[in-house]
Amino acid sequence: MVYIWLKNNLMPPGRCPLCHAAVRPGRICDGCLDTLPWLTGALCRCGLPWHGAAPEPAPLCGRCLRRPPPFAATLAALRYQAPLDGLVNAYKHRGRLAREAELARLWLPVLRRTLPDDTDALVPVPTHWRRRWRRGFDQAERLARCLADAPGMPACYPALSRHRATPAQQGRSATGRRHALTDAFHCARPVSGMHLVLLDDVMTTGATTRAATRALLAGGAESVTVAVLARALP
Ligand SMILES: [Zn+2]
Ligand SMILES: [Zn+2]
Repeated sequence: MVYIWLKNNLMPPGRCPLCHAAVRPGRICDGCLDTLPWLTGALCRCGLPWHGAAPEPAPLCGRCLRRPPPFAATLAALRYQAPLDGLVNAYKHRGRLAREAELARLWLPVLRRTLPDDTDALVPVPTHWRRRWRRGFDQAERLARCLADAPGMPACYPALSRHRATPAQQGRSATGRRHALTDAFHCARPVSGMHLVLLDDVMTTGATTRAATRALLAGGAESVTVAVLARALP
């Protein structure tokens, strides 16, 4: 922890992490903000963007037609690609906790625009304890708390506990990943009748969010919508 503190606090202040232009400490400059891979068009329920104009709500993609996701929609702010992936990785894997407020600042306007009006709470997808122990923090929960602190936002409600880690993607079929995540999550707090938004930093295949959603619905949640900062495209 001392190492992470030193690394975060000895960074030169007031430089955009992408172009190194002078900015307010911890900020991305306006020019770089515009170049981030924002998702602006219609999204499938799984968060994949439609190319060209699509009606609202967007029709389901082929994969969702075959296996409809248990959640009502995916609200994704950005594509998970350069330069955003570098920012998220620096935050998650190199402990640049100073980046957290800026990631939440990017995400907040999109959430304010897209969150269902009846949202009762933001539920972070918990990190498996082993990963949290190695990393020293749980990024989805920290981001959810940052977002919930903003005026008018629903509270952060860590309702899930996690018993299994997401298996490595390589060498595992989609079915294998799905089976490995069966019963990975349990409701640790009451969710009966609640309209929940399940929050994660990045959505890759959607297997984790499907498993977490199923746990919330099994606990009696009325509806689950997924919100991610970034959606990885296949
Ligand atoms: Zn910049
Ligand atoms: Zn889809």
